[in-house]
Amino acid sequence: MKRTHHCNALRPEHAGQTVTLTGWVHSRRDLGGVLFIDLRDREGRMQTVFDPADLSKEVFDTATKLHAESVIEVTGKVRQRPAGTNNDKIATGQVEVLVKELLVLNHADPLPFQIDDPEAAAKVNEETRLKYRFLDLRRPEMTHNLRLRSKVAIATRSFMDEQGFLEVETPILFKSTPEGAREFLVPNHRDPGTFYALPQSPQQFKQILMVSGVERYYQLARCFRDEDQRADRQLEFTQIDVEMSFIDREDIYALIEGLLKRVWKTALNIDIPTPFKRVSFQEALNRWGIDKPDTRFGMELVDFTEDFRASTFKVFSGAIASGGVVKAMNAKGMAGATQGQIETMTEYAKSFGAKGLAYIKVENGEWKSPIVKFFSEAEKTALKTKLAIEEGDLILFAADQWLNACEILGKIRLYCADVLKTQGKLTIDPKQFNFLWVIEFPLLGFDREQNRWYSSHHPFTAPVAEDIPLLKTDPKKVRGQHYDIVVNGVELGGGSIRIHQPDVQKTIFEELLQIPPDETKLRFGYMLEAFRYGAPPHGGIALGFDRLCAILCGTTSIRDVIAFPKTAKGTCMMTDSPSQVTARQLRDLYIEVKVKKPE
Ligand code: ASP
Repeated sequence: MKRTHHCNALRPEHAGQTVTLTGWVHSRRDLGGVLFIDLRDREGRMQTVFDPADLSKEVFDTATKLHAESVIEVTGKVRQRPAGTNNDKIATGQVEVLVKELLVLNHADPLPFQIDDPEAAAKVNEETRLKYRFLDLRRPEMTHNLRLRSKVAIATRSFMDEQGFLEVETPILFKSTPEGAREFLVPNHRDPGTFYALPQSPQQFKQILMVSGVERYYQLARCFRDEDQRADRQLEFTQIDVEMSFIDREDIYALIEGLLKRVWKTALNIDIPTPFKRVSFQEALNRWGIDKPDTRFGMELVDFTEDFRASTFKVFSGAIASGGVVKAMNAKGMAGATQGQIETMTEYAKSFGAKGLAYIKVENGEWKSPIVKFFSEAEKTALKTKLAIEEGDLILFAADQWLNACEILGKIRLYCADVLKTQGKLTIDPKQFNFLWVIEFPLLGFDREQNRWYSSHHPFTAPVAEDIPLLKTDPKKVRGQHYDIVVNGVELGGGSIRIHQPDVQKTIFEELLQIPPDETKLRFGYMLEAFRYGAPPHGGIALGFDRLCAILCGTTSIRDVIAFPKTAKGTCMMTDSPSQVTARQLRDLYIEVKVKKPE
C-alpha cells in the first residue's frame, strides 16, 4: 500500500474513509486494553487506535511491542473522536484512525533521549542533540526551522531572479589571501607544498564577475572562516552574496529592502515598512553606544561634555580636558540594582580601560551617590532635564575618549535591558523588527601595535567621494561607502560600493595598508589587472543567511537553523570530524605531520 495522506491531513469530513498512513511512532498510550499510537511524519501528527476487538491478536501484539520512533505503515478507517476527547493542540485533533492493518517498516532501538516531549527535549544537552542530530531534526521545532530556511532560500532566489540577477557559483577551492580570519587550507598533491584555501567570502570573484559584464550577480554562498568560535559563529556559514554594476548606495538599499520585505512576508506574513531608517556610524555610537543598535527600547545615551567642561568634579572635567567626553544614560526603574549587577556593569567599564563606574541611584526622592556632592546646581539641572530623571532611576556615566565612553555605556545599556526584561519591566514584542542602515563608517582604523592602518570593512571599499583628498592628509576622517543592515541589535549583513579604479585600489593597498608591492601583486595582481581592462563602477552586499533564518525562526542560535552545525570547538559531533587521516593519504599529499599535541 502507498500512503494516502500525510499525518496532518485528516479532518472530520474524512470520516468513514479508509486511509494508509506512514511515519514514526511518536508516542504510545495504553488505555484500558486499547492502544493509542500517535503517528508522526514530516507534516504532522495523527492519532491511531489499536482496538483488540477489531484486530487480529498478532497485529495487536506487534503494536504493543513497538518502540518509540519505529517506522510503521497503518491502514484503517477515519472516525470522529468520541465526544470530549478532541485534542486542540494538533490539526487532526478531532479525528482518529481505527487501525486494521499494521506493517512494521523498521524497528527503532531505545532512544538516547526522548523526543516526543518538547520540555524534555529542551533539557537534553546540546552535544547529545548534535551527536544524534538525525533524531533531533525529527523534532517538529527543528523540522519547522528547516522548512522555513528552505522557503526563505526560494523567496530569495525568486526575488533576485525577478530583479534580473544571475545566480553564479564561485569556486570553493580558492587561493590563500591571508589577512582577516585564519583560512582553511587544502593541500594540492599535483604541486607538493602548494595549497588551495577555502573562500572566506566570494568577494573577489563577485567583483571579477562585474568586470566580466555580469552586472547583477547573487549566490547563496558557503563561506569558511577558521576563527576561534566566539558566541554564535560557525566555521562554515551561508551568505546571500550580491554584487551589482552601475549603481550607487541607494540602489543597494532599495534592493535589500525589497528582498527583506519579500522574505518577511513569505516567512512570517509580516509587512515590514520600508524604506529603513538610516543612521551614521557616529550617530549610532552617540545614541546607542554600538554600531548595531537595538532601537526597540530607549535608554539612549546623552552627551554632557559641555555641561561638565568646567566642573569641579575632576574625574569629568579632567577627561574632557584630555580630549574626552562625558556621557550618561538613564536606566529607567533600575535604582534597585543589586551590588552584583553594579559590579557586572563596573567590569564592563573596566574592560574598556575605565577606572570605575560612576552612577546615581534615585531612591526615596534622593540622589544616592558619592559623586553628587561635587555637582553644581546647574550640572544637576542639566542631568535632571536631559535624562528626564525620576524616582526609581539609575543614572550611569562614562567619562572617557569618545569611542570608549560610547561603547562602555552601549554595553551597559544592553545589560540593563536584559535585567529589566527578566524583571518584567521591559517587554519587547517578538514580532517587532526594527531595521536600520548604519552608514558612513570610517574607511580605516589604526592598529597601534602594528603602527599601520587597516580597512574597517575590506580593502575594496570605496571612500566617500568628497573624502578622497583626505586619504593623503587625514586618513582617519575618510568615510567609507560602507553600509551595514541591522535588525533588533543584530548585524544582518554589510557591504560597500567598491573601488573600481586600479590606481585608487593600488594606493589603498600600498600606501595606506602598507602591503609591499610584490605582495600586492601576488595576492591581488589578477584583480588589479582585471580592473585595467574596463571595470564598471560596482558595489554589493552580503547578508548572513543563517542569522536571517535564526531571526525568522525566533531562535537566538544559528545552530538551530543549520542542519548539521559544529560545536563551539568546531567539532561535528555526529560524524566525529575533524579526524585523523591515514599515513597513506598523507604520503599521497606529500605531507608529513609532526604534531606536538598540547598536554
Ligand atoms: N564580502 C563581504 C563580507 O563577507 C560583504 C561584501 O562586501 O559584499 O562581509
